[in-house]
Amino acid sequence: MVALYDTLARAVVPVDPAGDTLTMYSCGPTVYRYAHIGNLRTFLMADLIRRAFEYQGVTVHQVQNITDVGHMTDELTDSGRDRMELAVQDEGKSAQEIADYYTQAFLDDTAAFNIQRAVDYPKASDYIPQMIELNAKLLERGHAYEVGGTVYFDTASFPAYGRLSGNTLEQLQTGHRKEIGDTNKRHHADFVLWMNAGPHRLITFDSPWGKGYPGWHIECSAMSMAAFGESFDLHTGGEDNVFPHHEDEIAQSEGAVGHQVVAHWVHGAHLLSEGRKMAKSAQNFYELRDLKERGHTEPLAARLLYLQSRYRAQMNFTLDGLTAAERTLDRWRRLIANWAGDPQGGSSVDAYEKRFVEAMNDDLDTPAIMALVSEVTGDDKVGRADRAALLQRWDRFLGLDLGRDVGKTVEVPAMVLELIEQREKARTKKDYSTADRVRHKILSLGFEVEDTPDGPKPRPRAR
Ligand code: AMP
Ligand code: ZN
Repeated sequence: MVALYDTLARAVVPVDPAGDTLTMYSCGPTVYRYAHIGNLRTFLMADLIRRAFEYQGVTVHQVQNITDVGHMTDELTDSGRDRMELAVQDEGKSAQEIADYYTQAFLDDTAAFNIQRAVDYPKASDYIPQMIELNAKLLERGHAYEVGGTVYFDTASFPAYGRLSGNTLEQLQTGHRKEIGDTNKRHHADFVLWMNAGPHRLITFDSPWGKGYPGWHIECSAMSMAAFGESFDLHTGGEDNVFPHHEDEIAQSEGAVGHQVVAHWVHGAHLLSEGRKMAKSAQNFYELRDLKERGHTEPLAARLLYLQSRYRAQMNFTLDGLTAAERTLDRWRRLIANWAGDPQGGSSVDAYEKRFVEAMNDDLDTPAIMALVSEVTGDDKVGRADRAALLQRWDRFLGLDLGRDVGKTVEVPAMVLELIEQREKARTKKDYSTADRVRHKILSLGFEVEDTPDGPKPRPRAR
């Protein structure tokens, strides 16, 4: 079965669902802005895990949260306002409108990336009562304390703190986070479960501790347990989520129910740009819409690029790498389109299939799978239709839309290429009557010319 690198076990371990289906909770987007393509890499990892199980007949019940409220980062901005509130100010819309808009943008982007829809996308703002209930439970069980309307998790009450990230209480030095300025904390590692709103906060909720809003981590404890109960199989996120987000989530969930809740934790490594983590704050990010504006109109080429690295290796994104991936994707699609019409060759592809499944189950070894795809495309001992069918089958995992009808590749006669050049020359000289005459000649030879940002492209004339 599928084995994955479990951050908690610090090893690649087999991941077996406890029940009939694999229950998986994935940390989702904060919806005060567009996702960047680094975020998409983390969401893709969850999709690949899911597809690996589904490829082998296991149903996956995936839930992904939408963070539309709360302490959206563990550091407040300089002005002491959270990011959603700043977006409200900048965009002149309500928080609800902003959240709805960017939630839809997230769904569009993930769909363009062929990331399958989760069963449910719970919104944090719909789970305030569950978060309040969790806080109450933690207070009752002695894992939390309240000071002036703010509720803190008492890390000293939870000896397992640090098990996931290695940041045990002894190791955490004073000053590891900005909140150290908060003198109400008993221990510097204690974190906010519920925050007193103060006079300037726009979005607040009533609670037994007065008006406030939830801490960042409590939403994932509340929503994951609302979805799956007190235990589930797998929790995913990006590597920056390990600490403090997931460390704190473990403390909250286990503190509330008194036993282990998540069986396996899997984290994706960051996408880098110019050698640094791609991030909004670092100004080194791309969104899918930026790539499109630069003429990179096929998002699945980025998906292919990501597959060339394993999910837990950091990878540096470059536009050159993306261009190369576009060519590879186009080539594979064309081969399949050309081969699919051939009669089945009856060749055995069992050995290839075995290697594919082994690589997939070996902690999603997608670089090995990419090499395998190249090997298959060049293996003339296997019938062409059999190769096409095999690659399309693997596409259930890869999600590259390899079967897309890109049309058969047609040899363009030298004569047509020459005429295209003549037409370009005439157009540069603004001699449009000659250009048009040449275009008709090209048409009479059965081709038409499409003017693309990369220059003129010949294609067989539409009938
Ligand atoms: P956010 O919307 O900022 O909460 O981020 C959504 C997800 O993207 C989180 O799980 C992060 O861990 C992940 N993430 C953020 N930056 C990157 C990056 N550069 N590469 C990969 N994943 C990232
Ligand atoms: Zn989360």
